[in-house]
Amino acid sequence: MEIAFWGVRGSIPAPGPSTVRYGGNTSCVSLRPKNGGLIVLDCGTGARNLGMTLMEGVFGQGRGEASILLSHAHWDHIQGFPFFVPLYQPGNRFHIFGGAQSSAMLEGILEGQMAPQYFPVQTLKNMGAGIDIAAIDEGAAFQVAGCTVRARTNPHGRAGALAFRIEDGAQSVVYASDAGYDPSGPPPASVDLYRGADILIHDSTYTPEDGRRYADRGFSSVENAVDAAIAGRVKRLVLFHYDQDYSDAEVDGLCARGRRLLDERGGREIELTGAAEGATLAI
Ligand SMILES: [Zn+2]
Repeated sequence: MEIAFWGVRGSIPAPGPSTVRYGGNTSCVSLRPKNGGLIVLDCGTGARNLGMTLMEGVFGQGRGEASILLSHAHWDHIQGFPFFVPLYQPGNRFHIFGGAQSSAMLEGILEGQMAPQYFPVQTLKNMGAGIDIAAIDEGAAFQVAGCTVRARTNPHGRAGALAFRIEDGAQSVVYASDAGYDPSGPPPASVDLYRGADILIHDSTYTPEDGRRYADRGFSSVENAVDAAIAGRVKRLVLFHYDQDYSDAEVDGLCARGRRLLDERGGREIELTGAAEGATLAI
């Protein structure tokens, strides 16, 4: 399975000279399972570059098919959707899964950000590609691009954010962006989802100090991410969803802090990577 990072920021895009190494786009990750399918995790502004890259292949010829898993509908997870060019190419097929009380509600959320007051071009109804939208039943595993997917809602804001575990045969990746645990740490059902994963991509918005300062915002600090990785005994922790105000040097510091915390708290064998826009990981 190959994982590619297209946007690794939280909340709002943060382009500029101080964010060139880790990147300024908001959340978007792609997974290529061994069978060659494509899964897209969230559609923050990073989805724009992913879309343009995909158009160089079968998606540009209207023969592409992909599944999009949306953790939740805050701006930094859906704002790239109207700018994801393969959606406008007739013949492409997209299967969209997300957390909402119904599929119609999820469609309404995506359609809402494309209302003419916000977006000048199109609506979901005439984007061109075939699009089907399904609200996720949290309790049940489902099949996406030949992989088995399980979802679980983490505490985040009023509606929570889904974390996803994607299993491709024996390999497993967990995507847990936007997780604001209470002081006791991740709930048992979340630890269950993370358990033994080859890769845990985890919200790491803040330093421990900023995490305590902004505890009401519903995000994890690097300390929370480390604790989640150790509780789940994962093989590799990938820090993700950095605060928009952190410079590259500050994110370097966040990663160094994560390594130290892992070593101090019994996670010495867990590898640590700071997600960066344009980087790939293979398992
Ligand atoms: Zn977010």
